[in-house]
Order: sequence, then structure tokens, then C-alpha cells
Amino acid sequence: MKKYVILLSALLLIVGCSNLKEQTASKTDEVKKTVEEKVVKKIVKPQYEKKVIDGRTYINGILIVNKQIGLPKDYNPGEDPVAHQAIEQLMQAGNRTGLQFVLRSSFRSYDNQAMLYQNYVARDGKAAADTYSAEPGHSEHQTGLAYDVGSVVSANDFRVSFGTTPEGEWLKHHAHEFGFIIRYGEGKTHITGYQYEPWHVRYVGKKVANEIYKSNKTLEEYLGLYPKDLTETVK
Ligand SMILES: [Zn+2]
Repeated sequence: MKKYVILLSALLLIVGCSNLKEQTASKTDEVKKTVEEKVVKKIVKPQYEKKVIDGRTYINGILIVNKQIGLPKDYNPGEDPVAHQAIEQLMQAGNRTGLQFVLRSSFRSYDNQAMLYQNYVARDGKAAADTYSAEPGHSEHQTGLAYDVGSVVSANDFRVSFGTTPEGEWLKHHAHEFGFIIRYGEGKTHITGYQYEPWHVRYVGKKVANEIYKSNKTLEEYLGLYPKDLTETVK
């Protein structure tokens, strides 16, 4: 009888312990889950609205083209008329202050970009070419919304030094007034994948351009596409 009681108490003790253990475990799990949920919500929640229309990606209504996101081969819209008018106004406004802006490049088709890119790769190798040129389908010029501007004094055109010319300085501080952003900013290579291109502007409209100018963000940061982890976990 005594033996039986001892056995029973031992059994109860074991059962009690394991219950306690289970309870503790489930509580810990619950806490873990809550923490995880919070983290997941913070990282995964889309910060933007993404739409893909005929292979073109729009984030919050803005057509996005970068090293990761491309355009279909057959997307061939030509120069955007609104952007065209805006770049004309921009250059005229600059030139009225005594500058000498010249338009160096605007819309470029997929095939033109393919030719350019192949030439650059043949000349400098792929790794170097990728820092200043886009693979076919990944050039912003194919959108019809991007321009390269230069100066009549062409020595600094398509060079980082364009940023310190009077035209480059003016562009940096006034492009947004006409709806443009300096698309590949200084010190932003880790985000854009491109070297600083003070001559390459992208039309996004005045409101967005103004916000981007004030925040000193890249288009990717502005749209919530960077850091990349954020987008890649978004379902
Ligand atoms: Zn360009």
C-alpha cells in the first residue's frame, strides 16, 4: 500500500511537471509567435501598390525600370509628349539664365539599347559596362521618360564632372521644378547599380520630383523598393 502511494505521488509529480513544462512551452511559443508576427508585419507589409501591365511594372502608378525590373522587348512608346514638353521647358528656363543646355539623348528603343550595350561590353567588358549602361530592356530611355542633357561645351557631357559644370549644378537644383529627378544620384550606386549620372534625368511629374528632391532619396527608396529584403519578402 505504501509503495503504491509513493508510486502514485511520483506519477502525479511527473504528470504535474510535464503539464507545467507544456504550459511554459506554449506560453513561450505564444510570445515568440507574437514577436515574429510583429517582425513579419514590419518587414513584409507592402509599402506600395504594384501593378504589372503587359510586362511593365508600375509601383504606385510610376513605371519602374532598373537593374532588376525590365521592360518587354516590344515596348516601343517613343518619346512621352508630356516629358518632352517638360524637358524643353527645363532647358529653356536654364538657357534664359545664360546656360547652354543641349539635349543629348531621349527615347531609345530596345534594339538601339541592345546595340549600344553590346558595343560597351565589347569595349570595356560586362562588369564595367554594367556600371554605366543598361542591358537591353533595362534602360530607362526605353520608357520615353528619360533624357541625357549636356552642354554646348561638350567636354563634360556624359561624365561625372558634368555635375560641377554650371549646367550640371543648375540641373541638380531645378530639375524637380519641371518634374524631373536626377535618377542615378551621387553616392547611391549601391541602390541604383549605376555610377553617379548627373546628366540623366527621369520624368516623374512635379509632385513626386519635388518630394524626391527634398528627401534626397533614389526612386527605389522613395517607392519602398529599397532595401531589397523588403520587396523580396513581400507576397
Ligand atoms: Zn541616360
